[in-house]
Amino acid sequence: MASEFQVSEGWEKLSSALTRQGRPAQREEGSPVNLPLTRGSTVLFPSLDAMNKQGHRRYDHEYIYGAMGTPVQHELEKVIASLEGGTDCQIVSSGLAACTTPLLAFLKTGDHCLLPDSVYGPTRRFAETLLKRFGVSTTYYPPCANAETLQGLMQPNTRVLFAESPGSHTFEVQDISMLATIAHAGQAKLMLDNTWGLGIFSPFKHGVDISIQALTKYPSGHSDVIAGAVTVNTEEDWHILRDAAIQLGQLASPDDCWLTLRGLRTMGVRLAQQSRVAFQIAQWLKTRPEVARVLHPALPDCPGHAIWKRDFTGAGSLFGVVLSSDISQGAMEAMVNSLKMFGIGASWGGYESLVLPTSGGIIRKHPVADAPQGPSFRLQIGLESPTDLQDDLAQAFEVLKNPR
Ligand SMILES: *Cc1c(COP(=O)(O)O)cnc(C)c1O
Repeated sequence: MASEFQVSEGWEKLSSALTRQGRPAQREEGSPVNLPLTRGSTVLFPSLDAMNKQGHRRYDHEYIYGAMGTPVQHELEKVIASLEGGTDCQIVSSGLAACTTPLLAFLKTGDHCLLPDSVYGPTRRFAETLLKRFGVSTTYYPPCANAETLQGLMQPNTRVLFAESPGSHTFEVQDISMLATIAHAGQAKLMLDNTWGLGIFSPFKHGVDISIQALTKYPSGHSDVIAGAVTVNTEEDWHILRDAAIQLGQLASPDDCWLTLRGLRTMGVRLAQQSRVAFQIAQWLKTRPEVARVLHPALPDCPGHAIWKRDFTGAGSLFGVVLSSDISQGAMEAMVNSLKMFGIGASWGGYESLVLPTSGGIIRKHPVADAPQGPSFRLQIGLESPTDLQDDLAQAFEVLKNPR
């Protein structure tokens, strides 16, 4: 099916770049294939003059002092900047830090920020506690709001328009080009949490100013690293971001950067397989009588599907399932507990399948488009056999018939 091809197409195209970038030159004599792991806080210099000269190079991706990044971190920064299509990238300690660091860098007391109602929960909490305490106000907008509504929400002091596409738990795909026009008309920066779309959505071609990644997900890919990345596309934005990141002590350990570079080598093939199987399972789930809705951007009834088709070259491995309203939360929980191929736990993007109930945990100011009624959960599809995954879900549906 053409649409199944499209969900994995973009990932397949990434593989050549992913296997070549961020490692020693291919024809270098006596060089190992992979970058050596450099651990080090102190960097030694031959003289004070040499040390002082290096000290002025904080905006270069240089090894000056461990807190400003090590060689492996700087290589990873180049690879992520290239994947995102931006000029410079800053590695930070987590995906959440990748959301909070640019917010702190580009906002000040008295400013206003627009967040999509579908934003990642901890980003929402940050806006409602720390940002609020520092005198930054926030308005939540419906993720699929049209240009007119958004224009009406912009204030003279709106300095950041934040987006996350598709949205956390509810998977609305946002019109990023339209958001960019509105943000820039009001002198605001457009920030995008592009974690789901790394490599299959080009943020800067759509007018994004600051792109955010949880490297914890697809790039590291093995559920054993926490790290984040913030990418920009102008020197001016780079200086603002870099200054804030250094002052906040943002970096990731050389080991975590090295593991993330290793994970990136296989991201293209992992996600080509995982996105294909995820879409197959999503389509199969739609045929089940127990299922009311499947929230997957490649399905025509997902909010923002037409935008996904226009802007993305693939789809991810994570999607939502809403059961029909006659199924109780307790029955859904019994079903989740009965799954054998799916781990129960937070996060996603690793090589293994996960399930996480979402009903009850979704906080929204605005009604969700075509509000899902029944209990819901989220599936992350890993590299297990597609038949095993589908069989496991089928046996779990039997549990719905006889919940304890
Ligand atoms: C997981 C996630 C984050 C946070 O990443 P951590 O590394 O777990 O802090 C941010 N945004 C999105 C969309 C995520 O899925």
